[in-house]
Amino acid sequence: MTQITEGLRSTHLSLNHRCTQKCQMCERWAWEDHPANQAREILSELEIASLLKDLKKMGLGKVTLTGGEPTIRADFINIVKHSLDEGLHVGVVTNGNLLQRKILRLEEIEAVKSKQFQISISLLGTESATHDLNAKVPGALSKARRAYTQFTKH
Ligand code: SF4
Repeated sequence: MTQITEGLRSTHLSLNHRCTQKCQMCERWAWEDHPANQAREILSELEIASLLKDLKKMGLGKVTLTGGEPTIRADFINIVKHSLDEGLHVGVVTNGNLLQRKILRLEEIEAVKSKQFQISISLLGTESATHDLNAKVPGALSKARRAYTQFTKH
């Protein structure tokens, strides 16, 4: 395995393999039942905090939190905080299903309202008939739209 000691500027960190959707083009959600995922989380919150600290020392400037669906994790908000506290630019890639119920807690973090934080919501179509069909979750596009509207209204 190659050991990276410097020059790492940006990375994607997969927080889990679980997902609220079962998108047609994705196999990630199917890994959930794999024996390696029975412990439920790939890395604990403390392990992620420690990893972020080490990566920051190596020059990391931006982390993109992804999955699976990263917002499924009960400690998702804490992981965002750890990332921002390290001074990293933080991106989140989400399907938006669970985002609306997390927004109030996210907005309590001052840096979330700055350019240091960015959310990307994945769309699988511009209409519910297409998006929901591809996501295999009825109402998925409506949830993503509501989360987007709430997050951008301030
Ligand atoms: S939302 Fe992302 S991780 Fe989840 S099933 Fe779809 S493509 Fe895969």
